[in-house]
Amino acid sequence: MIGDALSAAARSGMDVILRGGTVVTMDAARRVLTADVHVRGNTIVQIGRVPMGRVQVGRVKAPSAAALVLDARGCAVMPGFVQTHVHLCQALFRGMADDLPLLEWLKQRIWPLEAAHDERSLYASARLGLAEMLRAGTTTILDMGTVNHHDAVFTAIAESGMRAFSGKAMMDTGAGVPRGLRETTKQSLAESDRLRARWHGAEDGRLGYAYAPRFILSCTEKLLRGAAAAAHATPGVLLHSHAAEHADERKAVRDALGKDDVSALAEYGVTGPRTVLAHGVQLRPGEMRSIARAGTRFAHCPSANMKLASGIADVVAMRDAGMLVGIGADGAPCNNRMDPFTELRQAALLAKVKRGDAGALKAEDALAMATIDGARVLGIDALTGSIELGKRADLAVVRLDALHAEPGGDATARIVYACTASDVKHVLVDGRVVVADGELRTLDADTVLSEARREGERVRRRAKL
Ligand SMILES: [Zn+2]
Repeated sequence: MIGDALSAAARSGMDVILRGGTVVTMDAARRVLTADVHVRGNTIVQIGRVPMGRVQVGRVKAPSAAALVLDARGCAVMPGFVQTHVHLCQALFRGMADDLPLLEWLKQRIWPLEAAHDERSLYASARLGLAEMLRAGTTTILDMGTVNHHDAVFTAIAESGMRAFSGKAMMDTGAGVPRGLRETTKQSLAESDRLRARWHGAEDGRLGYAYAPRFILSCTEKLLRGAAAAAHATPGVLLHSHAAEHADERKAVRDALGKDDVSALAEYGVTGPRTVLAHGVQLRPGEMRSIARAGTRFAHCPSANMKLASGIADVVAMRDAGMLVGIGADGAPCNNRMDPFTELRQAALLAKVKRGDAGALKAEDALAMATIDGARVLGIDALTGSIELGKRADLAVVRLDALHAEPGGDATARIVYACTASDVKHVLVDGRVVVADGELRTLDADTVLSEARREGERVRRRAKL
């Protein structure tokens, strides 16, 4: 029944009302209120009691009786999660690369698997990751692809309804890089430019391009400088890489270049407010201050850092130093979930462990990292990341009435410490209902799963693992 109403709503551009939830706005005042949220087109036009069937005083007209009303009673209505570092191309590799440290994990498993991708397996991988993340309330991602076939990832993102920055991985050097992933500097830049021209700003601005030199050990100085120049030349385009993840990786960079990865990257232009670097586990306080001065953004990936034994990033020190930090699940084979609730909880708890202080990174601050700060990291906080009039309707409705989340108390703390992905009831991206009553609307879960099983097996056989 809701399916018919949704189809009709989509056809007619009908308003959507999220009725009667606890709205955790994540606005500057961090307001939490009991209210309806009224969406017209892709925009939040009203937060408050929305009367039905009559004209309301004020600038916004009441919806017609035909508005699609989604029940949010007993639920939190929150901004959708912004995941600032994920790899859709690795979703098929879940369970194929476990219990290895970073460099072995890459060389023995991830690179051979990525090299074995074809267009079909990459498309299936992206769809699996997108389905998992949308279903769990993620509405925006920053994605790093693999070297080849990246149009398949963008096609899957476009169809899914997710808001995303994405880009192909760039790799023109490096020990242990298989031939299938090695490209020339020129090819890497040309293919990235082609993808940027085709996809940046597509889907009414929902898609953006992020140049993605993979990490310093797989990129020449020329490639890094070229990627930085290309990214900085186009408004809204991002630069996306990994840095300061594992001590062994840092040592390899120091041995090769005589300096640390973050300072080398900055020297080559991979720096500033349009640059997002994943991890930062190994950052020293002096580096944090210079990163904050440059405005370079970081993505914290707590589960991946634990699973690869990379360490615990000191996000409280980063934030105190003035750095802007978001949260991301990283990839399925190093996590093994792409669940924003898991990352939110791990980020909050690990910060307390790291600091030996139960008050370190309060629930509200952890939720900010997963929403509005994530939007700031990507430079799209004027559009998304909080529930405010005029912003895009990127929203997650999360049940607070499950056994593990009752019997009440602070809504923000319940989202951070108690709720799980299975509590997500409805999700909107850019005003479009992508999940209703727990069911994906833009992807067919059964088809996504059967494709993923078939293509996962095929890619593993091709990689001879
Ligand atoms: Zn990563």
